[in-house]
Amino acid sequence: MVVCSRCSRRKAVMEQRYSALSLCKNCFLELFEKRVKKANRDFGLLRRGDRIAVAVSGGKDSAAMLYSLNGLSKKIGEIELMPVLVDEGIVGYRNLAMEKAGELCELLDLSLEVRSFKKEWGLSLDEMIKKRNEKELKEGACTYCGVFRKWVLNKAARELEANKVAIGHNADDFAQTFLMNLMRNEPERLKRFGPLSGIEEQELFVRRIKPLIYCLEKECALYAELKGIPYYVGECPYSGEAFRGIVKNFLNEAENKYPGVKYNILSSFLSIKKELSAGNKSESSEKRKPLICEKCGHHSSSKICKACEFLEDLA
Ligand code: SF4
Ligand code: ZN
Ligand code: ZN
Repeated sequence: MVVCSRCSRRKAVMEQRYSALSLCKNCFLELFEKRVKKANRDFGLLRRGDRIAVAVSGGKDSAAMLYSLNGLSKKIGEIELMPVLVDEGIVGYRNLAMEKAGELCELLDLSLEVRSFKKEWGLSLDEMIKKRNEKELKEGACTYCGVFRKWVLNKAARELEANKVAIGHNADDFAQTFLMNLMRNEPERLKRFGPLSGIEEQELFVRRIKPLIYCLEKECALYAELKGIPYYVGECPYSGEAFRGIVKNFLNEAENKYPGVKYNILSSFLSIKKELSAGNKSESSEKRKPLICEKCGHHSSSKICKACEFLEDLA
């Protein structure tokens, strides 16, 4: 029997190759929650009085996030969590995942707010992709999905009068996004991407927090598993279209051979981000002021927001 390297008492249930530790269930769960607390401390994510729209999908990451935030927000006090699920309309996937999200909310005694692409624009993602194929447009399903989901989530958060939106991006997601930005030569995007984005005074775009930044994807799954949290295991039928999938496989392979690679990339990202932020402090508030989309009246970085641009293409 392999014994836990922390408490030296209980049987280890997992091996952390990057830290050369074997951990028992209790020590692992404690460590996971400590990482969420550390993210909160390092980036000032949660505050008393917050009303947080928590983006849930039914998957392991958002399930682990909602569960751990539920515990942490009770400890901090005076924080309201409002789980929001955006149903993109992916038959055989999101409908099944939604059931799990409903079960988790019931378990935590939270009410689940469901929004959908179909209700918003009369088209599900499946229907949009059909149109995309007919029109021979080039965007990947995940590009549409990401832009529309962000739009719906922000709208829901504003309507719920949330001051923050919590997103279940884990350490793997951060490492992937950082590498993808480098590969696409889009360093500018890094300025807007991080564990805490948006600005407090900005009413149109609700601030986004990412409390799982220090938690690896497979550790989120293990946390959900060991806590008995309901989550959906299946894969989205469009995931094969994503560039992210290639980067994800590459990183998994690299981590396998050189344990610690993902955290090293995350650390590099945070150091670069710090430098960029320091440079940004000199920018005037006018420069940071976002535009308002002429079509939908939502937050935008150009005259017409990306969601409206895509809807026009698909019409
Ligand atoms: Fe959306 Fe792509 Fe994720 Fe599927 S894999 S839910 S299409 S972002
Ligand atoms: Zn232990
Ligand atoms: Zn718009």
